Amino acid sequence: MTALPIRSELAGRSGYGAPQLDVPVRLNTNENPYPPSAELVADIAAAVAVAAAVLNRYPDRDAIKLRDALARYLGHGLSAEHTWAANGSNEIIMQLLQVFGGPGRSALGFEPSYSMHPRIAETTATRWIAAGRASDFTLDPASAAEVVKAEEPDVVFLTSPNNPTGTAMPLAVAEAVCAVAPGMVVVDEAYAEFDRDPANTALTLLPRFGRLVVVRTMSKAFALAGARIGYLAADPAVVQAVQLVRMPYHLSAVSQAVALTALEHSAELLSTVAAIREERDKLVVSLRGMGLQAAESDTNFVLFGLFADRHAVWQSLLDRGVLIREAGPPQWLRATVGTAGENATFLNQLKNVLGGSESLAAE
Ligand SMILES: *Cc1c(COP(=O)(O)O)cnc(C)c1O
Repeated sequence: MTALPIRSELAGRSGYGAPQLDVPVRLNTNENPYPPSAELVADIAAAVAVAAAVLNRYPDRDAIKLRDALARYLGHGLSAEHTWAANGSNEIIMQLLQVFGGPGRSALGFEPSYSMHPRIAETTATRWIAAGRASDFTLDPASAAEVVKAEEPDVVFLTSPNNPTGTAMPLAVAEAVCAVAPGMVVVDEAYAEFDRDPANTALTLLPRFGRLVVVRTMSKAFALAGARIGYLAADPAVVQAVQLVRMPYHLSAVSQAVALTALEHSAELLSTVAAIREERDKLVVSLRGMGLQAAESDTNFVLFGLFADRHAVWQSLLDRGVLIREAGPPQWLRATVGTAGENATFLNQLKNVLGGSESLAAE
């Protein structure tokens, strides 16, 4: 086999690879379990047909209509010039690191947190600095600010509510970090709509901090993971800076049409959020009732443990048709909140797995 001249820091690594397996209960990638309604499917198909009639032309490379709709959805006095959209918030994060990170620069995150932050840092040759969290996965304003002051990173990532722990972050943390950060502060709010407190969003801080960026996605609460739409809200200067690195016409006309149509149905799409929150809280209670630990969650997933051999638990669940995720600290597992039926199946199978083998539970 020919040895390829892969960049040394990437050689031998494997790409992002959460298993995509066709099993009855899939609770591993924090998708919304409710598919679009027949009416929304029809509206999307009609919007795509309109877009298809002019697919010989490039799309609106500034995606103005979509950015305007996203700004209206977010509120907080934002307009199209404050927003930017891309193929999933992962592409947004990549663009941010391309323009504000890069060789000779650093990015800092508070782990355990979203595994793509350090991965995208690596692919953009940005040095990654891993800071920690308290044992209950929370962050407090003073110690977060202290780490940022000491490390002086070019980019700070704060994730709220956090993945994979589910932990919501008080606004005071973002405020304290913004006050001392020498560079950009990115608050990844992929799960904001699931937060118990809807006012707990860094959007409220944007008028005060010009180097703050709030990143959102339509993949989770909006139930639109397949469309690949992520976006940011920030000072217009940040949106202009991103223009330096974005690819021309990066967001297809089809994606823009789908996202716009979905936003017109946002009330319907977000109507599942209340049910998911309720199921989440029930799941936490049930897991604790089984004698397990379950972290407080303001998201659509629950981190639970502790297991001496989490891989064995994960595999045994998979053998029973339930796919969850090996994520977080070594003894923990993460399960996405599904429909009531899926959650019941997951809990029953977990009971079977743990009942069948006393050796699997660590505590
Ligand atoms: C799921 C997730 C994302 C991104 O998803 P996209 O589908 O690329 O928008 C970003 N951040 C966090 C913390 C996530 O959990």
